[in-house]
Amino acid sequence: MFEGLHRETFHPGDVIFNEGEDGDRAYLIESGCVEICVGNGDRQRRVSLLGSGELIGEVALIDHQKRTATVRAVSDTVVVAIERSMVDELLEKSDPVIRHLLRVVLERFRTTQRSLSPRVLDDLSLMLEYPQHKDSLYHVAAYDLAMAQDIAHALQTSQFEMHYQPICRLDDGEIVGYEALIRWDHPREGTMAPLDFLWVAERTGQVRAIGLWTLERACRDWPALRENLSCDTPFISVNLSASQLTGSHLVDDVKAILQRHNMSPRELKLELTENIIIGRPEIATQVLNSLTDLGGSLALDDFGTAYSGLDYLQRFPIATMKIDRLFISQVLTSAQNEEIVSSSVRLAHSLGMDVVAEGIENEEVRQKLIALNCNYGQGWLFGRPASLEATQRP
Ligand code: C2E
Ligand code: CA
Ligand code: CA
Repeated sequence: MFEGLHRETFHPGDVIFNEGEDGDRAYLIESGCVEICVGNGDRQRRVSLLGSGELIGEVALIDHQKRTATVRAVSDTVVVAIERSMVDELLEKSDPVIRHLLRVVLERFRTTQRSLSPRVLDDLSLMLEYPQHKDSLYHVAAYDLAMAQDIAHALQTSQFEMHYQPICRLDDGEIVGYEALIRWDHPREGTMAPLDFLWVAERTGQVRAIGLWTLERACRDWPALRENLSCDTPFISVNLSASQLTGSHLVDDVKAILQRHNMSPRELKLELTENIIIGRPEIATQVLNSLTDLGGSLALDDFGTAYSGLDYLQRFPIATMKIDRLFISQVLTSAQNEEIVSSSVRLAHSLGMDVVAEGIENEEVRQKLIALNCNYGQGWLFGRPASLEATQRP
């Protein structure tokens, strides 16, 4: 297994490395036995004996600090040297969060071993002082880790909130549904917009937890929201993130939440972007079909922004096309955008889909969209996203 790697032989009493030295390699003990000692001179004491198959010197190798112990051969010992360059290469390829976690764990190991006062994990700023760690990846990892902790804490302490924005019929302004949009009342940063933390949650694997919370909260609030609506087919629209679709739990989660809130699946719409669908088309087909089999419907969010071709529009069971705000905001000023909106509406209708225009901010845009045959709209003209309480006020 270790063919081709550099081996060194030590005899009883030989020092392999000393406490306080720079550590540029770790060693795997192939045969023999070594003692690990801490302290200097007369105060040196053995803390353990290690034998074949054990690893020594790995801590200094990874975190670029001095050796924390002296290691000496007790019998004839053969070790395989593992150079820093090998480990650096592997670490470089690893996920930044894992890399950062490793460094935090090592730091903790060192502080406990030296009986210093324990350093709390969120004291990340101290660790960033180490000059060799001032690379951007390290900052990304530190930020991710701090955010991951904040998100976990936020889920436990109800810092997330759901806001609801009306979706209206364009001709008479009647509200037909609401889109649920998450907000974070962050203790240090203030109110955080979803795009500022959802991408971190994607990287740290917390999207499922946030997605579950979002669905749960939107379905819990739905009866109160529905009170505001008098149309025949009212709905609540909830956004999905990419990793919710690739996980195997989504359909079961949705089913359980609907049952818990005694909610009709017909009243739930799930919004997802083209990129989410196209990233994993096989899984998407399976999951989206299961969701619509349950009775829920799907909306294609941010339509027009992904340059992804149109064949998937037929492949997936999509009921609603939401035309991105980018095109709507310039529908009056750019002939090209007007053409994009107009042909998107025609395309959607020819496929039997409803169309929602996003980001309608004024009456002129609404009139233009009516003229282009668009039937539904969402935007500040009709109402900004607001808390449940605010939607209840007359
Ligand atoms: P989106 O799905 O396109 O949501 C619409 C965004 O446009 C919202 O931003 C909304 O506040 C904003 N908006 C609505 N009307 C207008 C308007 O007339 N003018 C302008 N300038 N903006 C308008 P928000 O709430 O910051 O959400 C941003 C994105 O974050 C959403 O884009 C959605 O992709 C994502 N998101 C929000 N909540 C959730 C959630 O609970 N789960 C997931 N997975 N994603 C979410
Ligand atoms: Ca959306
Ligand atoms: Ca959108």
